[in-house]
Amino acid sequence: MTKTVVIASNNAHKADEIRSALDFEGWEFKTLAELGIISDPDEDADSFEGNARIKALAAHTASGGLAALADDSGLVVDALDGAPGVYSSRYAGEHGNDGDNNTKLLCELENVKPADRTARFMCCLVFIDEDGTETVASGTVEGHIGYEARGENGFGYDPLFLPVELDGKTTFAQISQGEKAKLSHRGNALRQLKRKLSGK
Ligand code: IMP
Repeated sequence: MTKTVVIASNNAHKADEIRSALDFEGWEFKTLAELGIISDPDEDADSFEGNARIKALAAHTASGGLAALADDSGLVVDALDGAPGVYSSRYAGEHGNDGDNNTKLLCELENVKPADRTARFMCCLVFIDEDGTETVASGTVEGHIGYEARGENGFGYDPLFLPVELDGKTTFAQISQGEKAKLSHRGNALRQLKRKLSGK
């Protein structure tokens, strides 16, 4: 029997990554838009987990009780006391304006020396099954913030993020989506969720 899981997002990048990571037999993932559901709750929690839970519960309810999966993620910069954090998508004001967000981040770090530009992406996933059972998973990736945007791939702060696993010069926007998934906060969180859901 097919199990439909609603992805509490309309971001195609995320939906693809979720589908390929959680390849359980008989599971099909549908975005809110694909199911014709409108669900846009206020993400007003002060943590990634809190916001992911708000989105997952809203999608579970709006879909009439389907299993639901939500993610919430963002960039945490040590020299900025954890900013932009849960405000990552609207750091410069307008929701999802990646160019302005990156410009603001570079300005805020203008006088910060290389060794102090440490940062991490964090991701929290909340899965709510048909019966309301909740499973939470999280993942991070450590890195540094560069001095200029580099690369065309990815989204958000990818052109400024230099993951420690690479050579210190290559940003997330200069590698393929597949390579990024092996290192990324979302990839790590999805691998943890897969282990938890399969009881491993
Ligand atoms: P949300 O989880 O969709 O609410 O994403 C929050 C924001 O965090 C995005 O708009 C991006 O600015 C940033 N972000 C989250 N994950 C990534 C990533 O993998 N690369 C670059 N930016 C990211």
